[in-house]
Amino acid sequence: MSGGSGMRIVVIGASAAGLKAAARARRLLPQADIVVFDAREFISYGACGLPFYLSGDLDNLDRLRETQWQAIRDAEFFARVKGLDVRCGRRATALDLATRTVTVESVDAGAAESVGYDRLVIATGAAPRLLGGITLGDAVTCFHVPEESQPLRRGLETGQIGSAVVIGGGFVGVEVAVALADMWGCAVTLLEAEDRLLPHLLDADMSRLVAAELARHDVVVKTGVPVAAAHTVGEGAEVTAGGETFAADRAVVALGVVPQIGFAAAAGLVLGASGALAVDEQLRTSDHAVFAAGDCVEVVHRLTRQPCYVPLGSLANRQGRVVGDNLAADAADAEAAQDRPADADPYSSFGAVVGSSCLKVFDLNVAATGLSETAAAHVGLSADAVWGTFHDVAHYYPEPGALYLKVVYERGSGRLLGLQAVGPGEAVKRVDVFASLLQRDGKLRDLLDLEFCYAPPYNAALDPLHGLGCAALNREEAGVIGVGPFVAADGRAVIDVRSADEAAARPWGSPEALHIPSEQLRARLSEIPTDRPLLIVCEKGPRSAELARWLLAQERRDVVYLAGGMALRSQAGSG
Ligand SMILES: Cc1cc2nc3c(=O)[nH]c(=O)nc-3n(C[C@H](O)[C@H](O)[C@H](O)COP(=O)(O)OP(=O)(O)OC[C@H]3O[C@@H](n4cnc5c(N)ncnc54)[C@H](O)[C@@H]3O)c2cc1C
Repeated sequence: MSGGSGMRIVVIGASAAGLKAAARARRLLPQADIVVFDAREFISYGACGLPFYLSGDLDNLDRLRETQWQAIRDAEFFARVKGLDVRCGRRATALDLATRTVTVESVDAGAAESVGYDRLVIATGAAPRLLGGITLGDAVTCFHVPEESQPLRRGLETGQIGSAVVIGGGFVGVEVAVALADMWGCAVTLLEAEDRLLPHLLDADMSRLVAAELARHDVVVKTGVPVAAAHTVGEGAEVTAGGETFAADRAVVALGVVPQIGFAAAAGLVLGASGALAVDEQLRTSDHAVFAAGDCVEVVHRLTRQPCYVPLGSLANRQGRVVGDNLAADAADAEAAQDRPADADPYSSFGAVVGSSCLKVFDLNVAATGLSETAAAHVGLSADAVWGTFHDVAHYYPEPGALYLKVVYERGSGRLLGLQAVGPGEAVKRVDVFASLLQRDGKLRDLLDLEFCYAPPYNAALDPLHGLGCAALNREEAGVIGVGPFVAADGRAVIDVRSADEAAARPWGSPEALHIPSEQLRARLSEIPTDRPLLIVCEKGPRSAELARWLLAQERRDVVYLAGGMALRSQAGSG
């Protein structure tokens, strides 16, 4: 291999991972020969911003590839500002690991060239997942690249698109549904094969909050309806799902993504169980001279220790830097390590992930990290959960935002497994903080040790995560059990301990609850039925939890409380 000054680095893919790797390598190896190929002309844009272009929040697509000082990130920008040779319209089609050459074809002319490398970086991203019965066409499109979002935006602006079916209720599908309906008033039907929206983020209970928010904005949500077919018919689209046919001006396919690794797989690079490229902690593939990063690789999940596929821009960017470091570390001459202390390990590693993600659904912030209860069960972990309803700031501060949270933890050990946060309030902060606990194998008690900033405009004196830690420890150590927010009475006597006004505003429903306000319950113990188990209900959970604990101390067995209270329940449209 050549030394750092003569090292030849070839990068395939000029987006988050590839360009980060190339730019970092350039900084560490000023003399290296670095060339980046991309099949497309429109490079280095934030795909995550496409829904906001569709919604009309952004006036044009160039906003997605502008720097903060309004320079357009095209090949010329990278040459001028980053010292990188970026060649657009060039697709890598074959790889020979033995001779360290990659074949690159011009997309327009079809002319091929063979490019040698000392180190290769594969950062080819992902492609939309499709199903057999779906035929892409004029009225049936994916939503993965600008070329797909532009005609949709034009159709909305000109009034040609007044209705749409979105196929897939993952985060892109939900974002697209919001974008279509919010500004443009498009009549949207959102179809999801699983029993709930956002199945990779949320359990069914928390997902109900998202479905209710979409319904409040007139998006028709249908879950449990696998799509069998979608075609362009005349000027519009026809989608068959769950035995029904849906006709609309457009159908948008958002069924997730699959790693885009054709030439790399054909060359014999090892794939992981997920079908993405397998890489080690240095993000090196099965061939020592080939690194890979971004949506084309699989990563290790911190909680399951298993490989998994988590295609996120947040990870792709971090991985790009790790690859850049390791390209430099591989270079033979000393200039590679010029900005490192002499005794430091020159190699960087990309650790396990917990899969934090978030999205905005009309007025709701939705965020999750780690494992849901469903995901924990799927990998054989025995999990329990606690729910809570909170405000994101002091409750007396003007316009507090509600937050509905669910913590999932391992039964017995109390190891934290995941957090789901939904609400108009500041959900992402809690999820980010929780995620850092997951990275340290945090346990329930660690929630009580968290130190948050506090002033009334920003938080209550005790953060919601503290409250949920207490609720979980009360469950584990004192048997004070909160049941999920959407349970039925199931033969239990329901004791509603709210004020008369609260109970009237959000009644429990049927069968009718016995109403005894919390401040009277101790005095009216004799009125509480003794022939049935009890479900104590209040507005958000704390009052009923406290009274459940008191009843347990009165030798009452079979007492549970409604976790998250009637506020959480009614937020999802349940009485
Ligand atoms: C609508 C949408 C919304 C999203 N929202 C979020 C979000 O909110 N948060 C988040 O974390 N992530 C989000 N993502 C995901 C995020 O955009 C990706 O994780 C990220 O772009 C991955 O970066 P990458 O560099 O690995 O791949 P990509 O960005 O996909 O880039 C791969 C590049 O490789 C090129 N290429 C592929 N094959 C070849 C070849 N054979 N030869 C030459 N060039 C090739 C492609 O043209 C492309 O430019 C969103 C994605 C979409 C589509």
